[in-house]
Amino acid sequence: MEVVVVGGGAAGMMAAIFAATGHHHVTLIEKNEKLGKKLFITGKGRCNFTNACEPEAFFEHVVSNPKFLYSALYGFDSRSVMDFFESHGMKYKIERGNRAFPQSDHSSDVIKTLERCLRDLDVRIRLNTKLTKVLLAEEKVCGVKTDRGDFPADAVILALGGRSYPSCGADGDTWRIMQDLNVDLTEASPSLVPLTVEEKDIPLLQGLSLKNVAVKILVDQKERYEGFGEMLFTHFGLSGPLILSGSCYLDEKDYLKKPKVVIDLKPALTEKELDERILRDFDEAKNKQFRNALSKLLPAKMIPVVTGRLSCSEFKPVHDITKEERRDLVQLLKHFTCTVNGNRGFTEAIITRGGVKTSQIDPKTMAVKKYKGLYVAGEMIDVDAQTGGYNLQIAWSTGHLSGNSIC
Ligand SMILES: Cc1cc2nc3c(=O)[nH]c(=O)nc-3n(C[C@H](O)[C@H](O)[C@H](O)COP(=O)(O)OP(=O)(O)OC[C@H]3O[C@@H](n4cnc5c(N)ncnc54)[C@H](O)[C@@H]3O)c2cc1C
Repeated sequence: MEVVVVGGGAAGMMAAIFAATGHHHVTLIEKNEKLGKKLFITGKGRCNFTNACEPEAFFEHVVSNPKFLYSALYGFDSRSVMDFFESHGMKYKIERGNRAFPQSDHSSDVIKTLERCLRDLDVRIRLNTKLTKVLLAEEKVCGVKTDRGDFPADAVILALGGRSYPSCGADGDTWRIMQDLNVDLTEASPSLVPLTVEEKDIPLLQGLSLKNVAVKILVDQKERYEGFGEMLFTHFGLSGPLILSGSCYLDEKDYLKKPKVVIDLKPALTEKELDERILRDFDEAKNKQFRNALSKLLPAKMIPVVTGRLSCSEFKPVHDITKEERRDLVQLLKHFTCTVNGNRGFTEAIITRGGVKTSQIDPKTMAVKKYKGLYVAGEMIDVDAQTGGYNLQIAWSTGHLSGNSIC
C-alpha cells in the first residue's frame, strides 16, 4: 500500500518506521528543513525520551483522556521504546524519577537513530513540504495536497503536533486541516507552561531555584495540585518542574479566577518545629538585625522579599521581635503565596492541551472514524501528560499503533 505520513516529529517518524516495517511504501512529509526539530530541544537538549515506569503507573501521569491510550501504551510501552532504541544502537540511561535519556546526553542521538531506521526501511523523506489538504474520494482518503504538489496514497497518517513552540513547526495546522475535514477538536491551550504572577516582589527573585519545596495550587480556595520538588522564580513569575506540572491542572477559565500558588518553603518542618528552629536561630543572633538572623534559614535573595512581606522592619533588633511577629514569619514561610494572572502562552508551553477529540478516533488503531484510511498520532490528539518523558511516550505509542494498523 502507498502510505503518506505527515509530520516529521517523534510521532510521525515512529509511525513511518512501523508502516514501512509492515512492507508498505512510505513517504514522510515535513514542512521544516529537517526532521525532529522539536525533539532536538527536548529535555534541555538531552531528550527525556520516555519514563521507565510500569504501564499502570504511566496512566497516573496522563492528565487528559488516559483510558484512550490503553491499547497504544500496552502495545508499545516504555520498555518497548527503550528496547527499540537500544536495538538500533542507541544506549540509554535512567535517572531520578525513572526518566530515560540517551547515554550521550544528546537529543541528536534519538533523531539520528530514527533517521537511520527510516533510511534502512527506504522511507522517502520530503522536507520543506507543507500539507495543505487531505484529499478524499467520497469517505475514503486518496492522498494529500501540499505546497509542492499532490501525493496519492491509500492511507494517510497525520502527526502534525499541537501549537506549542511554534518555531519548531507545529503551529496549529492540526486545527486548520481537521476542521476542513469536519473532524471535531477541543480548543488548544498551553500546558506545562510557566505562570505569570501579580506580586511585584517576585521579579526580585529572578533566577532563584528552590529545591525540596512543597507547592499547592488553589482555584477558588480549592486545591487543584499539590507537589514536592523544584521550582524557579523568573522575571515574570514562576517556572521549574513543580510549576510546569501544576499548570496542567489549570484551564483558561481558571486564570480569570486568579489562582494562588502557595509555596511551603520548609516542608520538612511543622509550624511548631519551624518556630522552635527560628527561636534557636534568633537566640544565636540576639543582637543582630532581623534580616541578618535569617541567613541560615533562607537563600540571600529571598530575605528582603520575605521581610518586605512582613510588618516587622528588617532592621529591627532580633531581641525586640515579638511572638506575634515570629508567628507571622512562620506563616509566611509555610504559605508563601503568589497570585497567578496568566501563563506564558504557546511560545513557552512544553505541550498543547486539546486537539482531535478522542471520540473521533478508534483507540485500537488510531484511525479517524469518519474516513477510511486516515489515522492520527502524537500531540495533535487530545491527550497530554505531566513532565518526565510521558509526552514523548505518548508520541511513540500512538505513532507505533497508527503505523502498525495500516492494512
Ligand atoms: C522545550 C520542550 C521540551 C520538551 N521536553 C520533553 C521531554 O524531555 N520529554 C517528553 O516526553 N516530552 C518533552 N516535550 C514534549 C514533546 O516534545 C512533544 O510532546 C512531542 O515532541 C510531540 O511529538 P509530535 O510528533 O506529536 O509533534 P511535533 O514534535 O510537534 O511534530 C509535529 C511535526 O509536524 C510538522 N508539521 C506540522 N504541520 C505540518 C504541515 N502542514 N505540513 C508538514 N508538516 C507539518 C511540524 O513541522 C513538526 O515537525 C518537550 C517539548 C518542548 C517544547
